[in-house]
Amino acid sequence: MNYNQRNPIFSFRMSDYRRTKLDKLAKLDKTSTNEFARKIIDKYLANELIEKTEDLDKEMIKLRIEKLKNEIEYQKLKINYMKNFDKPMSASATRILKPQIITTENSTAQVMSPYDAKNNRIQCVECGSLFHWKNRDDFVQQKYEFELHMTNKHNRAMTYLEKTVFDDLSYSGASK
Ligand SMILES: [Zn+2]
Repeated sequence: MNYNQRNPIFSFRMSDYRRTKLDKLAKLDKTSTNEFARKIIDKYLANELIEKTEDLDKEMIKLRIEKLKNEIEYQKLKINYMKNFDKPMSASATRILKPQIITTENSTAQVMSPYDAKNNRIQCVECGSLFHWKNRDDFVQQKYEFELHMTNKHNRAMTYLEKTVFDDLSYSGASK
């Protein structure tokens, strides 16, 4: 094997935006852009760069922000009512309005699976609590713990989606 075979050249195209960003980072690293890109790939291949697994967390933050916005909206409505009519909103109007506006947490649980397939674990979509298992017994126990968690911490039964996910979820090894 000659030098070229042992050390083949690798090249690819990237967007101008990415390239400029890479140039800047390389400059900070006091190295050439080429060398910097090579370092990143080397690190990835040596398992020193870890892929983002926080998609679920991000999604949850988005939903929490959404919920806060809704709550603010609700408070504004109540305040405006007070200003316009010079008395607080009636209890019956509150009962009708509130569930319409503030239902995000529950609706999260209705659309988001609590099973995190990437890490083979369960995560509560309302508060982020994690449920891991090491073996089959653990797995059964943790599913039960999740159900308890819903009752004790969130005062509700499992949603249809959660139940369906659990029914379909069979043991496939320890959590990551
Ligand atoms: Zn929870």
